[in-house]
Amino acid sequence: MITAEGVTVRYGRTVALDAADLTASTGITFGLIGPNGSGKSTMLRAMLGALRRAGGRVEVDGVSVDDLTARQRAERIAVVAQEEPSGLPLTAWDSVLLGRSPRLSGWSRYRPVDEQAAAEAMSRAGVDALAHRGIDELSGGERQRVLIARALAQEATHLLLDEPTNHLDVRYQHDILSLVHSLPLTTVVVLHDLNLAGRYCDELMLLDGGRIAARGTPHDVLVPDVLEPVYGISMRRVDLDGVPQLVFRPAERAVT
Ligand code: ADP
Ligand code: MG
Repeated sequence: MITAEGVTVRYGRTVALDAADLTASTGITFGLIGPNGSGKSTMLRAMLGALRRAGGRVEVDGVSVDDLTARQRAERIAVVAQEEPSGLPLTAWDSVLLGRSPRLSGWSRYRPVDEQAAAEAMSRAGVDALAHRGIDELSGGERQRVLIARALAQEATHLLLDEPTNHLDVRYQHDILSLVHSLPLTTVVVLHDLNLAGRYCDELMLLDGGRIAARGTPHDVLVPDVLEPVYGISMRRVDLDGVPQLVFRPAERAVT
């Protein structure tokens, strides 16, 4: 379980998060949604203890993130940040193995158990065939799946993902989120796509300008009356096999 209580983050004069609370219970997939700049990535970084908070607490299974060493944190929390080229001459296999480094003592070499975990993680993320490719030679979507494999190899109990489906084609968007949802981990995932959020998250929180605009199940949050003022676009909800999905109707531009 991961909890944030009254978390406030400022960048200079910008208040990126204003006393936000979040509880992701053990084993659930918790989705963070909201427009660009609403504070989603900031919330994720705050939960990792990776930035200075102006206020509030974050606890992982009851322990403050501030009290964990980097290694203890890595044993508990795996992160898939927004992908960027590494600039390092690593293969996909090297990159996934790096997920095992918090498990090694000192400078010891990777053990068979590490190689086995890395191989399993690559197969779960559907990237075995990419093992020998250079990480910076992969497409954005392939690299994103390798990063997910690295997080799985880490075998942490919590998983934080920031827009993991960016760059993925529609089939992999569903494959990856369905995999993430099936894992017995406590997961917090930032998603742009409200329809993916509706299908794969157990609970959602909608951020707007650093504040919580709504939270609850996808059925409670994915409601046009709730979303329209936040996103500024009109929409209609359709329930597809019991899953709330949205179709959008942009305002027509006046022809001048
Ligand atoms: P989101 O992930 O929802 O798009 P962010 O959490 O990245 O939003 O950003 C929230 C707000 O904080 C935005 O107004 C953004 O411009 C600002 N911000 C984010 N990171 C920084 C930073 N490193 N320095 C200054 N402002 C930042
Ligand atoms: Mg972001």
